[in-house]
Amino acid sequence: MKYVGAHVSAAGGVENTPGRAIDIGAKAFALFTKNQRQWAAKPLTDESIAAFKANLKKAEIEPKHVLPHDSYLINLGHPEAEPLAKSRNAFLDELQRCEQLELPLLNFHPGSHLKKISEEDCLSRIAESINWALDQTEGVTAVIENTSGQGSNMGFRFEHLAAIIEEVEDKSRVGVCLDTCHTFTAGYDMRRPEDCEKTFGEFDAIVGFNYLRGMHLNGSKAAFASRVDRHHSLTQGELGLDVFRHIMNSDHFNDIPMVLETIDETIWPEEIQLLYSLIEG
Ligand SMILES: [Zn+2]
Ligand SMILES: [Zn+2]
Repeated sequence: MKYVGAHVSAAGGVENTPGRAIDIGAKAFALFTKNQRQWAAKPLTDESIAAFKANLKKAEIEPKHVLPHDSYLINLGHPEAEPLAKSRNAFLDELQRCEQLELPLLNFHPGSHLKKISEEDCLSRIAESINWALDQTEGVTAVIENTSGQGSNMGFRFEHLAAIIEEVEDKSRVGVCLDTCHTFTAGYDMRRPEDCEKTFGEFDAIVGFNYLRGMHLNGSKAAFASRVDRHHSLTQGELGLDVFRHIMNSDHFNDIPMVLETIDETIWPEEIQLLYSLIEG
């Protein structure tokens, strides 16, 4: 089974997200559990937590098909001690929010070296950050998202994801999320069926599909291998539909949340339907 949805707004409270998912025909969804552009956030209230759980149940969406995304400000590979500590504390808070909501996944961007430390050191710092935060929480898996490699962002090579996982102590609580736009602009082609075979084969050999916990399904405004992160709607841009046909017909992508972060949210219902219509046979 495929579980497709979109990153829905949490305006007015996290408890509003399951209803918004249902309204667009989603069987999965992503959300921010706090404002993604601010460091500080009020704790979730007991009322909000209870309403979220009740609404999720009503929506008949399983917690494992929800993919919370952490704040954009967090850099778990920060080269400097003070901002690194701030990032780690914020990441721990994000994990604890997932614990409270009984959601088993937290999706995050690995981090950036800011040209002050080597790529290797940055990857080690990210793994240390994950270990530190997982030690203090239970039941939530840290889901590393691959990136376009814009600026000094790490995570644009499958080897980066593998290197982080290698240093994470509890392998049962680390996973990855592949973003189709990021994968493509990082330099892994997926425009033709044979490109998809090659790219996902490489992913399986280097990281392993056993670590895949989610997908971000996005078209790309930016060109192949441009290292630029600009999403587009599925039927527009540089990527084309073959990659989505591949994903929707491959068992490697069963039973995980697959979430649209495409640019025109008014067409999310059509995009979700389009994805399901690609299933053959
Ligand atoms: Zn993404
Ligand atoms: Zn992106």
